[in-house]
Amino acid sequence: MSKIIVLMGAPGAGKGTQARLLQERLSLPQISTGDMFRAIVKTETPLAEELRPLLTLGRLVPDELTMRVVRERTAQPDCRAGYILDGFPRTTAQAGMLEGLAAEQGHALLAVLVDVPYDILEKRMTGRRNCPVCGEIYNVYFKPPARDEVCDLHPEVRLVRRADDNAETAKDRVATFERDTRPLLEYYEKSGRLRRVDGARDVEAIYADVQKAVSGE
Ligand code: AMP
Repeated sequence: MSKIIVLMGAPGAGKGTQARLLQERLSLPQISTGDMFRAIVKTETPLAEELRPLLTLGRLVPDELTMRVVRERTAQPDCRAGYILDGFPRTTAQAGMLEGLAAEQGHALLAVLVDVPYDILEKRMTGRRNCPVCGEIYNVYFKPPARDEVCDLHPEVRLVRRADDNAETAKDRVATFERDTRPLLEYYEKSGRLRRVDGARDVEAIYADVQKAVSGE
């Protein structure tokens, strides 16, 4: 049966990196609400004005808007065989909406938690850098590029740091995860749809377990 794979984890756990690998290797689209919101914020629209402070401070975007964005994106033809969600759902209301969406679309749902101890999360966030051209994710502590601050594949551009990856906001984002999102883990666990993966290792070791979890091994 076609599947929605929900990658879960605190900010900095490495959901995005694993989602990108799954997308490449399973040929399913990766849907990151964070990436979609960051793209909106770059535009010059009233919506960008509304969302910018929320993203800068690491506060959640209102459920109604978030759910609308996910509903529209997952209605695209490339999602028919399933998709990977990265950063959604984050609240009980979003999880409820996703159950309905999965039923409508005829997909089963499996959640994979990338589990990382708190002492590592901060370095994962403050060390994170992205290529503005291809979106490749680096980390100055754990996965540095070959040359300082430039992408291995696009050496002509400097890597960028997310506005919300500073130490102060990172703490707030972890607190938001604890308050609003952690209850969802229990929700998926109770229905037997949660797999846990040790996320404190290197990217490929984590991926091997994520891949086993999604293929039901
Ligand atoms: P992320 O890249 O997943 O860490 O998301 C970056 C930011 O986008 C978050 O701190 C929120 O401001 C917003 N965001 C992303 N996904 C959601 C969501 N499912 N619900 C509400 N806000 C979200």
